[in-house]
This record gives sequence, C-alpha cells and structure tokens, in this order.
Amino acid sequence: MQKDDPHTTLITATAPIAPNTHGGRAKCLQRLVRLDLPVPRTVALSFSAVHGLASGQMPDMAKLLAPFGEQPLLCVRPSSEDPDWGGPGAVLNIGMNDAIYVDFCDALGQEAAAQIYLRFVQSYAIHVARLDPDLFEDIDSDSPDGLSAALKAYEDEAEESFPQDPAVQLAAVLRSMARAWEGTTARLLRQAKGAPADAGLGLVVQQMVFGIGSGESGSGVIQLVDSSSGEPQITGRYLSQSQGRDALVKGAEALFLEADARGPSLEELAPQAFADLKAYTALMRRKLREEMQAEFAIENGKVHLLDGVRIARSARAAVRIAVDLAKDKIIAKEEALLRIEPRALNELLHRQVDPAAMRDRIATGVAASPGAATGRIVFSSSEAQASAARGEACVLVRRETAPEDIRGMHAAVAVLTERGGMTSHAAVIGRGMGLPCVVGASELTFNLQARLISAPGGRTFKEGDVITIDGTSGDVLAGEPAMLEAAHDDAFQELMVWSDAVRDIGVRANADTPTDAATARNFGAEGIGLCRTEHMFFEADRLTPMREMIFADKAQDRRAALERLLPMQREDFTELFRIMQGKPVCIRLLDPPLHEFLPHDKAGCRELAEALDLPLSDVTRRVEALGEYNPMLGMRGVRLGVTVPEIYDMQARAIFEATIAASREGAPVVPEIMIPLVSAMREVELVKSRIDAVAAEVRSETGQDFEYRLGVMVETPRAALRADEIATQVSFLSFGTNDLTQMTYGLSRDDAGRFMSAYVQLGVYPEDPFHTLDTDGVGELLKIGAERGRAASPDLVLSICGEHGGNPESIAFCRNAGFSYVSCSPFRVPVARLAAAQLALQDKIAP
Ligand code: PEP
Ligand code: MG
Repeated sequence: MQKDDPHTTLITATAPIAPNTHGGRAKCLQRLVRLDLPVPRTVALSFSAVHGLASGQMPDMAKLLAPFGEQPLLCVRPSSEDPDWGGPGAVLNIGMNDAIYVDFCDALGQEAAAQIYLRFVQSYAIHVARLDPDLFEDIDSDSPDGLSAALKAYEDEAEESFPQDPAVQLAAVLRSMARAWEGTTARLLRQAKGAPADAGLGLVVQQMVFGIGSGESGSGVIQLVDSSSGEPQITGRYLSQSQGRDALVKGAEALFLEADARGPSLEELAPQAFADLKAYTALMRRKLREEMQAEFAIENGKVHLLDGVRIARSARAAVRIAVDLAKDKIIAKEEALLRIEPRALNELLHRQVDPAAMRDRIATGVAASPGAATGRIVFSSSEAQASAARGEACVLVRRETAPEDIRGMHAAVAVLTERGGMTSHAAVIGRGMGLPCVVGASELTFNLQARLISAPGGRTFKEGDVITIDGTSGDVLAGEPAMLEAAHDDAFQELMVWSDAVRDIGVRANADTPTDAATARNFGAEGIGLCRTEHMFFEADRLTPMREMIFADKAQDRRAALERLLPMQREDFTELFRIMQGKPVCIRLLDPPLHEFLPHDKAGCRELAEALDLPLSDVTRRVEALGEYNPMLGMRGVRLGVTVPEIYDMQARAIFEATIAASREGAPVVPEIMIPLVSAMREVELVKSRIDAVAAEVRSETGQDFEYRLGVMVETPRAALRADEIATQVSFLSFGTNDLTQMTYGLSRDDAGRFMSAYVQLGVYPEDPFHTLDTDGVGELLKIGAERGRAASPDLVLSICGEHGGNPESIAFCRNAGFSYVSCSPFRVPVARLAAAQLALQDKIAP
C-alpha cells in the first residue's frame, strides 16, 4: 500500500521521502521517526499527488485511510519544500462525527467531546466549505449547545448536513488545501518569500493526539534557545486541555515550561513529561543539527511530538546558534560559516543610540531597519545625492519610497517615511542595505510642498534640520544624541575569527577619519584600503589656508599656505597610523577639483575676500575662473598633482613625517601612497619622481629611514588598458570602480538617478551598475587591467576600493581575478570577511 506508492507514503524510517518531493515538514517528521521519537502515525502526500488533487484527481481514499484504523481521527498540515514559503493552515480533528462524539462523551466527558467536534466543524465550515467566519462568532466554544448551534449554522448556510464520513471529510480538506496553494494570492505571497512560481506543496496526514481528555493532557511548543538572542533558554508555553498552537494564542492562561518565578510551569505540573520533552528537543538539536521548535501534545501524561520546525531567529540569534552548534561539535565550523547569509550581519553591525543619552523624541513609527544615524533632513532623492556629494550626512524623508528612490536611499544615512510597514519598500530595501529606517511615522505631518514635518506638539522641522533616526526602537529624535558603536558579542567575534582562518582574500576598509579608522579596526579590517584626503581640508581651520593656497599666484605663496596645512595633515596621518597599529594605510593624494573648496555664493565670497584681504571682485573672478564645464572630467586627481605639484609634495611630506612619528611610538609603519585618476604612465613618472625626492629630503633632514609603497588608482578606462606600462612604475593598483563605472558607461555618477530606474525596469541594465559591479563591461576592464599589470610586474598587488568592494558578488569576481584584497566601508567589513570565507569554502566543496 502506501509503502509502494511514492506519492502517498506512510512515513517510516526508510520510506522514500525528500524535501523536494514531499516537502520539509514530511522530511523532518521522517527524521524524528528515525530517532525513535514518539511521532504519531503520518502519511505524506507528494507534490505531484497534491498537484493532482487541485485538479480533481483524488487519491484512493481507502488506501490513504488504511493505516489509521477503524475510526480515524486526523489532522492535515502543509509541507512545502522550504518551510518559510508557508502554506494553508493546519486542519485538526478530521474524522469527528456524531457517532464518535457520542463515544467521546462517555470517554472524555461531554464538554471535552464538544470542544473537539466544534473545532473541526468550525474549521471545516470556514476553510473547506468557505462559509462566513462571522456565523460562528457568537458560538460558545466550550458547550454542547455551542456544538449544536455550529452544526445548525453549517446546515443552514451550506444547505447540506455536516459530512459524517471521514473519507469524505478528508478528501474535501485535502482538495481545498491543494487548491488554496495553487491560488494567485498564495502564489504571489510565496514568490515574495523567494519561492519559484511552480513550487510544490506536500501534505502530511497525521493521526490526532488529543490534548483534551483525562489525565494530564494538553499541547504546546518548546525550543531550547531564545529566538532573538540565540542564548540557551527553554522557551515556549503549554496549555492543559488544548490543541494545536492554542498555548501560544492564549498566552495568558498558558503555563511556562521550565519552573519560573512568574507563574506555574509544566515542570512542576508534570515533571516526567517536561523532562522527556526537554530530552527529545535536545536530541532533535543533536541529530537534526539545528535548533528546532517542537510542537507537542501530552495525552494522559505521555508526550507526543507532532511537528518540528527550524526556529525563527533574528540575525544575532542565527550567529549564536550556528556558533554554539559548532562549538558543541554538532556541525563543523565551516558549516557554521556557510549557514549565515553575509548581508544578514548588517543587523548586528550598526550604531545604536546610547541608552544613557537624552532622547528628544519627536515621534515614533515602525522600527523597520535597525541601527541609528543622524543627518540633515532632505525631502527628495536628488537632494540626498547632492548632500552626499557634499559629504553631508542626510536623512531622506518621504511619504513613502518607490524604486526610483533607491539612489537617494544609498546616498542617505537613514530613511523616514510617513506610510508603510515592515514589508514596505523603504523597510525591505533599508534592511537589505543596513540603512536605519523608520516607516509609518504617521504621528508626524509631512508637508512636502512646504518642506516641513510637524510633530504632534506643534514643533516643526524643516529641510536641513538635524534629526536622528533610531531604526531599532522606531523613534525619530531631534538633534544628535550620543551613539554607541555596534555591539559585537562573543559569538559574532568567534564567527569572524573562523572566517579569517579560511578566507583567502584580504579585507580592508575605506576610512577617512580617526572615527572611521577605529570602526574599521573594530570590525577587523586588515588595513585602510582608501583614505580620501580631501575630507581633511573642509574643517574650518583648514579651509582658509587651503583657499589661500588656491588663490596664490606664485609657487612661493602657494608653499607658504601649504606650510600651514602641513602640520595638520601630519597630525591626521599620525593619528590614522596610530589607530591602525602598523596595519597598512593607503592614502590617496588629493582628488577633487580645487573649486570644490571655494565658496559657492556671494556671502561666502565676501567672507573669503575679508580673510584674504582682497577685493570681492578679485575673489569672484577667481572663483568663476576655476569653474569647469565638466569638473569630474577636468582638473582633478593626478592632473592637479602634475600642474600644481606643491600640493602632493606637502601631502607626501606629511605622510613621511607621520610615518617616522608613528613608527617611533609603535609598530613600524609602511605607508602606501595612491595617485588618483591616472590615465597615462608619464603622469605617474612625474609624480613618482617628486615623491621620491620628498622622501629623500625627509630622510636626510631627520636621519631616519623608512619605506613606502606607491600605487595607482585605476579609475579611467585608459589606466586599465595601459596597466602594463603603469605597473612598471608602482607596487600596487587599486581599482576605483565608482569612477571607472562612470567613465566606462559615460554616465555621470551624480546624475544617473534620473533615468536609472527606467533603465533597470526596461532591462537596458540588469542592475544599477553603481551598486552592482557590471562584470561584463567594467569587469572586463578590471580583468584586462589585472592581467596586463601582473604580466608586466608579477608581484603587483591588486585590489578594489570602489563602493562595490563590500558586495559579496563583487568579492567573488575580485577573488577570481586574483586580487589581494577588497576595501569597503567599515560597516561592510564583517560582511566582506564572511562572504570571502564562504567563497573559499565553496571552492573547497566544489572546486
Ligand atoms: C572610485 O572612484 O571608485 C573611488 C573609490 O573614488 P571616489 O569615490 O572618491 O571617486
Ligand atoms: Mg574616484
């Protein structure tokens, strides 16, 4: 019988059952059977049997019912391939009819019998006969009268008496569950959870264990760890005289499992049952190699396991669970590493508002994506991008976000929306990006026209005002409260150590400030892969000498201004070297066009005229003269270094003097100096000879020797194509994929937002190439650059430092191309470490 039929199979230790034919639940139950755990008799229906059911091909009901005896009482549960894809709800007590009711009245008492029958009538009426649930709303669920009323309501509405034959009942339940799975709504829901459109559904038909009856009877769920922390803690509830998941629904009346000061427990009520239950769940953990939640029923003191599911878990818990399973030698460390989705680490990695800080709360919404960030309010994605381009942190405030806001979201440090919930666009995307996000802040009035938000008490916040989004609590705060860096618990640290032991590509961070560097080091960066020095010149005390330098007509005046900047730069670099404690620090020489340092309005020009003691007209003229039609392709990067060489001279000197200072105090430092926007070898020769000369000067002035490495940032297509000759001049090449993408596509990185979503929607680009490395085009240049560079100079160190460096798919590409390391923003360093470890492991498994 069932044993021979692969589509309607009694679950035994040897039955042919697999997740991809009968679903995860059926497979799990078979595993429990193999462990000799007390699982009620169960028959599994395959995906193809259920698919047939939906189109009216009924299995042989007599055969299906045969294993369950004369008076079968059954429940049916869904069994999709991945339990997360869901399925129709379970139906309990199939087989109840008037005759069994009479028997149960004698055996269990009228009240218990009525409760069991009524539950079935109601769920059959609503889920199978599709009657209106309101019909049963006022029915007393605990009395025989309630049962009569429900049967009558069924008869009146369905215009038939309640079916009495278990085979008829079961056939109808199976058919309705099969049809529900094939419906459009269910299909869309599971596709949203990642299921393929044609995902199959299995069903399991299981002998009922009554949690209702004489002796200690009831039902509940148990798991051995806490779902949010992953810490060992027996969690769950038990409810006497109940079925299914009632214990969770009626939480207040339910018992704790383990003895608990807060109230009565199963441990005190039925110690043996509790001990068995604990032992069974521990055995499941050991043998199924996973933290499981068990659904159980106790019938007259004896425990039965009805179902087991992988426990739901936060990212933090997922890490602890995997690490603890490995430490208990249940799984290998490598498997623990493979079990964590690298991007899920984002949840653990974010800054939080210091609990001790004063919170000036404006409103509370849905805490949609964890972490906290402070920035100035902007009301559109283009403003967010403009703000990011100015290096100013901003919070994107929208009524709700849409796909075209994606670039704005990338540019913002946090997002706040008026509408939406946990699965709205802003929430889903925010979580994916690790961007703090509060949605559904409907307490606030959003006036987008006037560019204002108003809080309930009448306080208003306008564009440019500073607010803090706490995506962990859902609070919107005024101002900038103190923050705590992301918490690293020991399980997370352990996972990172294991990652480092297996990965074979380095991970550095892009860090410009001491705070960035400290975060990078905390997150285990092996060095700084890109320090963008321009940010150092925007502070008030530096901007004036910087502007004096820009305004100087003669080299000697320029040098005088730069001399004022030198000690500040030296201090910047010394601090970075100190924080990184001997780890490599790659400093990029000044990159942006000089006019970026000049004032952009009349008032600013007037201030500058005062500071420089020049007529306003002179200042305005110079500012205008420095303007370019296309500054991103103009006088910037190495072009500055070649034409205004004193700037790079000053920076090189500051780097060398800081090297000597930091090496005196701590671990020896070998600085790396990177030249931006190179497109010709001669540029490198010119800059290199000056830097070598500065090094020689510093060595002879101080009597101290030091080493340094020179490299080129490959961010123009020509640099990639001419990498062979460029490589002969330097010891490393680092691919700046932001500019390289911009120049390969001929697509402004600041303006692409206008049409990017249309382009992606129409399939012109598969993804936004500024977010996902275009492996076909830009990637081709990376490969050419790497191959030509290495051919000319076999020891050449290769890396990537564009935004793509932290993205697991780009890391795979760079690893395949033989790069030594990737460099990404500090918060993405752990994600990159884990992603890199997984790549190395996957290669070992399937080289
Ligand atoms: C790049 O162009 O990839 C890069 C890292 O530099 P920036 O983003 O500063 O232009
Ligand atoms: Mg660049």
